[in-house]
Amino acid sequence: MSSVDDELAPRPALDGDRIADVVIIGAGYTGLWTAYYLARADPSLQIVVLEKKIAGYGASGRNGGWCSALLPSSPSALARRHGRDAAIAMQHAMYATVDEVGRVAADEGIDCHWSHGGTVTLARTPAQLLRAEAAVAETHAYGGTDADLALLDADTAAGRCAADGVLGGTYTPHCAAIHPARLVRGLARAAQRRGVTIHEQTPVLAYGPGLARTPTGTVRAPVVVRATEGYTASLPGAGRAVAPVYSLMIVTEPLPDEVWQRIGLAQRETFSDFRHLIIYGQRTADGRLAFGGRGAPYHFRSRVRPEFDRDPRVFSSLRRTLGELFPVLGDDVAVARTWGGPLGVTRDWTASVGLDHDTGLAWAGGYVGDGVGTANLAGRTLADLILGAESELTGLPWVGHRSPRWEPEPLRWLGVNASLRMMTAADEAEARTGRPSRRAALLGRLIGH
Ligand SMILES: Cc1cc2nc3c(=O)[nH]c(=O)nc-3n(C[C@H](O)[C@H](O)[C@H](O)COP(=O)(O)OP(=O)(O)OC[C@H]3O[C@@H](n4cnc5c(N)ncnc54)[C@H](O)[C@@H]3O)c2cc1C
Repeated sequence: MSSVDDELAPRPALDGDRIADVVIIGAGYTGLWTAYYLARADPSLQIVVLEKKIAGYGASGRNGGWCSALLPSSPSALARRHGRDAAIAMQHAMYATVDEVGRVAADEGIDCHWSHGGTVTLARTPAQLLRAEAAVAETHAYGGTDADLALLDADTAAGRCAADGVLGGTYTPHCAAIHPARLVRGLARAAQRRGVTIHEQTPVLAYGPGLARTPTGTVRAPVVVRATEGYTASLPGAGRAVAPVYSLMIVTEPLPDEVWQRIGLAQRETFSDFRHLIIYGQRTADGRLAFGGRGAPYHFRSRVRPEFDRDPRVFSSLRRTLGELFPVLGDDVAVARTWGGPLGVTRDWTASVGLDHDTGLAWAGGYVGDGVGTANLAGRTLADLILGAESELTGLPWVGHRSPRWEPEPLRWLGVNASLRMMTAADEAEARTGRPSRRAALLGRLIGH
């Protein structure tokens, strides 16, 4: 986090018992957006955020910086459960969310290197091209137009992102590239300026209706918000709620202008391709390529440990993939830094937000790799739910959704790791043959994604 405009000195830990109106567990985007919107709506509220390490320590401080309108569940999956209108409403709420994050960052003076350049997703095999066409057809089937997601021919796609072997792709304007840690640290300061109390180095050991208990005191409040995403399984009683799946990243040294002229990404478009095991990248404000992907193993009993953030096999595979995409990088461009972190995946790959009025327990998460924008929508929605305000947001289909629990171990370990391996095998087969992999179709059906 060395490019962060903040000293990262921990705020004081909780020191004794306290009473509040709302206590929030976790100071990532979810917890902090919730605190921010609550404090903005009602400055008299006593809002306390309890963070195990420091604000932004989790995925919010170390992600790929796509502030996108993506959701882990497709519009068709949402429509199957909640109907077509609800799926369309959810997608529009996400489009508006990208603008909202940019607006608040500007209003609050958060210099998160915002660049609203959209996303180009490349197709580099015939099988990927079929998925590009299907993605556009699905967006159009749910009220979208070319202005939301357009199919690109090979030249237009390569004109935005000149990767090797581009056959076509898609472009959506609904994404901004950001510096993730600058956003989350700036958000913590903005919440604090509005009267929110943030206690860092304060792990919540147990929580329940009306309270959150830490080693240095208990906060009692009628509303307790769980905003712990990939770390949720370590909380008592939540061991099977959200599985942590690791995503890892590398970043190059700043690249010379002549290299950028060959690669493109002139608007700092975020970029990816239509393979199964997700890859994602952005051109950073200081001219580096930041690039990430999944593929690191899931760890037994949903354990999360700092050493799991580093997997040399995945880092080398990311560097190799980056070289395949952009041969201009050759072998000379060095990787300046590597890191990783846990995503939160629910059993039905569906994000949700909710407040149980009987217990006062609230939650949000399950964003998989799409939490940067979604957590903002979650924060605004939780604020409305907690304040008892019926709004367009509280009527969205993800509100109150309860995902089924994950299987007990060792089934969970076997299932998640087998899925990760199947996706890799499907991509390898497609790269060899160019044809869609049957394994991938089977996997899609298994996880209902
Ligand atoms: C490498 C990587 C790349 C990603 N790229 C993207 C991307 O480009 N775009 C995108 O949309 N999404 C991306 N994501 C996902 C996105 O970052 C997350 O969905 C989002 O940040 C989740 O925010 P959160 O606040 O819910 O959780 P987190 O940011 O993980 O915050 C949870 C917080 O809870 C704290 N905590 C945990 N347990 C306790 C406890 N017991 N007591 C107190 N505090 C606790 C943690 O320390 C942490 O700070 C990526 C994730 C990773 C790891």
